[in-house]
Amino acid sequence: MPAKKKTSKSTTTKKRSSRKCSEAKENQKITDREKRIQEIRKKLVEEKERLLHEAEAALNSLPEESAFPDLGDQASAEIDKNFMLRLRGREQKLLKKIELAIEKIDNGTYGICEVCGCEIGIQRLEARPVTTMCIDCKTEQEEEEKLLEA
Ligand SMILES: [Zn+2]
Repeated sequence: MPAKKKTSKSTTTKKRSSRKCSEAKENQKITDREKRIQEIRKKLVEEKERLLHEAEAALNSLPEESAFPDLGDQASAEIDKNFMLRLRGREQKLLKKIELAIEKIDNGTYGICEVCGCEIGIQRLEARPVTTMCIDCKTEQEEEEKLLEA
């Protein structure tokens, strides 16, 4: 009977789905963190756009901008490169950090300390979204830097 076959099949499905349930329960702990990380991502994207916009406005106000005639598509890639090179160093660094952070959020490695591999506290991430180190490692690094500078 096909009905009987169906019953045995649904039993296996049931078993499987109940296992999935307990997994989902475990994952619930991460959900709040994930949500907050997605909020951070939004802020990072906004910050990135703001920085690019500002940089563009600053570059457009430069008189040498008129040195770029309409060179067509081939040259525009070159201009893009120049544009990045001409971004002020600090902004460029920050942009890179922001891009890296967004990339990490997307591939699921965000919020993990690069030095010790521990999870970085969500509050620290919210305060400093581009950080790649947990507070312990950062403190240690700063102390080492201080020693080197002294
Ligand atoms: Zn660490």
